[in-house]
Amino acid sequence: MSGRSTTGGIFGDLDVQVELDAPIGTDSWFCAGGRADVLLRPADPDTLAEIIRRCRRTETPVRILGEGANLLVSDEGVGGIVIRLDAPPFRSIERNADGEVDLVRIGAGADLSRSLLDLSRSGLAGLETLMGIPASIGGAIRMNAGGRYGAIGDTVHAVACIDAHGEKRVYPASELDFGYRRNNLTDPIVLWAVFKVRQEDPVVLRERIKEIAAYKKSTQPLADKSAGCMFRNPTDPDTGEQVSAGRIIDETGLKGLRVGSASVSEKHANFITIDRGGRADDAIALGDEIIGRVLDARGIELVREVVIWRRSMESEA
Ligand SMILES: Cc1cc2nc3c(=O)[nH]c(=O)nc-3n(C[C@H](O)[C@H](O)[C@H](O)COP(=O)(O)OP(=O)(O)OC[C@H]3O[C@@H](n4cnc5c(N)ncnc54)[C@H](O)[C@@H]3O)c2cc1C
Repeated sequence: MSGRSTTGGIFGDLDVQVELDAPIGTDSWFCAGGRADVLLRPADPDTLAEIIRRCRRTETPVRILGEGANLLVSDEGVGGIVIRLDAPPFRSIERNADGEVDLVRIGAGADLSRSLLDLSRSGLAGLETLMGIPASIGGAIRMNAGGRYGAIGDTVHAVACIDAHGEKRVYPASELDFGYRRNNLTDPIVLWAVFKVRQEDPVVLRERIKEIAAYKKSTQPLADKSAGCMFRNPTDPDTGEQVSAGRIIDETGLKGLRVGSASVSEKHANFITIDRGGRADDAIALGDEIIGRVLDARGIELVREVVIWRRSMESEA
């Protein structure tokens, strides 16, 4: 393919763009953090599958990068291989998937908000509840992204993955289990997802999307550098009910708490933001500080929702 570099060791014969020392941290939504030793952008799913097979043979660690909206890349950067699915075959939207008018297949590398706006213009509803959540389709499936109006798992009809052996697997909804920011997929790569959609008046849909976007804007510090909610909402040990992590952090008096360039947002206490030009490691340290203080004050152990990437995968658990 023209314009694509084919250098890069064990991938030299493949149709893949290879970038060494790629600035994935500063390109993420936090706009901070380290670089990837190797960033690969395969041209198509077959090349992706071959990369996975070769990485397995050579025991090379693989990470998948979506839009970096739920990611904190430590300042030391990451080793192994990082893969980004942004070539056109990974971003396609196919209406009438499998010949069914109410099914749409979207590639894992497609942008979530752009996809749902595109569908809504044709009067196809289903994904609009996710308006304003920055994500690739693959990242949204991995995290079961959602909020007040619903989660992406609610509309999934099927998901295709590449497994650890480089084989494609397709899972119908009946085999999938989506829960709060989780699912039962264990394969390393989401390739595409098929969504159930329904016909609705595009004008009504546009109004609903505006309303959802306005709610998000009024409740979250969208202009600051963050990765959304830092912690999962925990279960209250006394009542057994899920409680807002933001409210707990706020009630513990941590709004505005700062470690170096990172601080707890004054607008939404579950958002950690990093100053322009700041350090990802400050946000990691601030997260640890919040976990410790909330545990001391409330006896609740907060668990991070934001994914942290460190140089070695062993130290990420
Ligand atoms: C301002 C802001 C607001 C947010 N609001 C919300 C919200 O309301 N609700 C919500 O749920 N989230 C929210 N988030 C978090 C974020 O939008 C979601 O978690 C989103 O799903 C991340 O998608 P991504 O493509 O950016 O994934 P990334 O951040 O790139 O990656 C996140 C994880 O998904 C994995 N991943 C990415 N792509 C794939 C793939 N194709 N196959 C397998 N694994 C993959 C990565 O390896 C990583 O483990 C917000 C973030 C920001 C910055």
